[in-house]
Amino acid sequence: MAIKVGIVGYGNLGKGVQQAIAQNPDFELVAIFTRREPDQLASLQGEEVKFEHISAADAYIGVIDVMIMCGGSATDLPEQTPVMARMFNTVDSFDKHAKIPEFFDAVDAAARENGKVSVISTGWDPGLFSLNRLLAQSILPEGTDYTFWGKGVSQGHSDAIRRVPGVKGGVQYTIPVQEVIERIRSGETPELATREKHLRECYVVAEEGANQEEIRAAIVSMPNYFSDYDTTVNFISEEELRKEHGEMPHGGFVIRSGITGQGKRQIIEFGLKLDSNPEFTASVLVAYARAVVRMSREGLKGAKTVFDVPFSYLSPKSAEELRRDLL
Ligand code: NAP
Repeated sequence: MAIKVGIVGYGNLGKGVQQAIAQNPDFELVAIFTRREPDQLASLQGEEVKFEHISAADAYIGVIDVMIMCGGSATDLPEQTPVMARMFNTVDSFDKHAKIPEFFDAVDAAARENGKVSVISTGWDPGLFSLNRLLAQSILPEGTDYTFWGKGVSQGHSDAIRRVPGVKGGVQYTIPVQEVIERIRSGETPELATREKHLRECYVVAEEGANQEEIRAAIVSMPNYFSDYDTTVNFISEEELRKEHGEMPHGGFVIRSGITGQGKRQIIEFGLKLDSNPEFTASVLVAYARAVVRMSREGLKGAKTVFDVPFSYLSPKSAEELRRDLL
C-alpha cells in the first residue's frame, strides 16, 4: 500500500518534494496545503493535484500517513511543525542550528502527546552532513572536523543584500577557499578563522542613480553577514541577474582528519555538488518520510533526528535485498 503524503507549503522545497514523490512509486501525493488561496496556486508542470488551505488539514487525519513540512525555518516551521505534529507524522528540514534544541522540545511534546513521529532537521546541513560528522567523530576520536559550504547560493545572505538601500536585486554565493581544502586533504590540520574558510561573492543590481560605492561599503561591512569575510561585490544588469543567477546550486564538504595508532593519518570526506539545493533537500525529506512512517507503524512516538533513524528505513528495499545488493 502506497505511503500517503501531504505537502505543507508550496515554495521551492514544496515543489521539489512534489517532483521527488513522482520518482518514488511507493508514495502517493494526497494534497498540498498552503496559507494562500488554494484556487490561486498552479501545479508544477500542470500536473493534477489537490490544493487545500492549511486550515483544512484536520479533515485528513487518518488519511495522510506523513506531512512533509516545506515552510521556511525562520518563522514558518517553529509554528507549523508543532501544530501538524499533533495530527500527523511529520518530517521537516529546520536548519537554524542554534535553535534546534528548543525546536526539538516543542515538536517532541506535540508528537509524543498524540502518538506521532516527527523527524526534524533533515536535509543536507543539518541532515546528511550531520550524519557524516557523527560517523567520522565516532570512528576517529582523535581528529579535527571541517565543514565547508558551497559554491552555492545562500538565501539568507541574498535576502540581506536585497535589504540594502539602493539595491534592486541580488544574489550571494558562498565559496569555500580551495587552497585550504587542499591543505586539509594533504594531511594538515590548520586552525582556521572564518575569513580563511569561505569567500562571499555578491551579484547586485543597483537602482538607477544609486551610489554603487555606498552599496558596496554597506554590504562588505554588514555585521553577522559579511564583515567577517572577504566579500566581493559585482554590479550587473537585471537581465544578467535573471539569466545567469536564477538557479539555486549548492553543496560542500565535511572532512575529518584524524590519527590512529602511532600517528597514521586517516581522512574521511563526504561531499555534495548540487545543481538545485531545494530539489536535493526535497529528495532527502522524501526518503526520511518513508522512515517516519515505518517508525510510526512500529509504535514509536515523539521527535527524532537523523541520528535516531536506522539507515535501512530510508530505503524502499527489504532488509534481505539490502544485505544481498548493497552490503
Ligand atoms: P520558500 O520558497 O521561500 O518557501 C517558504 C514558504 O513560503 C512556502 O512554504 C510557502 O508557504 C511560502 N511561499 C513560497 N512562495 C511564495 C510566493 N510566491 N508567495 C507567497 N508565499 C510563498 O523557501 P524554500 O526555498 O522552499 O525553503 C524552505 C526552507 O527549507 C528554508 O527556510 C530552509 O531553512 C530549509 N532548507 C533546509 C536545508 C537543509 O539542508 N536542512 C536545505 C535547504 C533548505 P505557503 O504555501 O503556505 O504560502
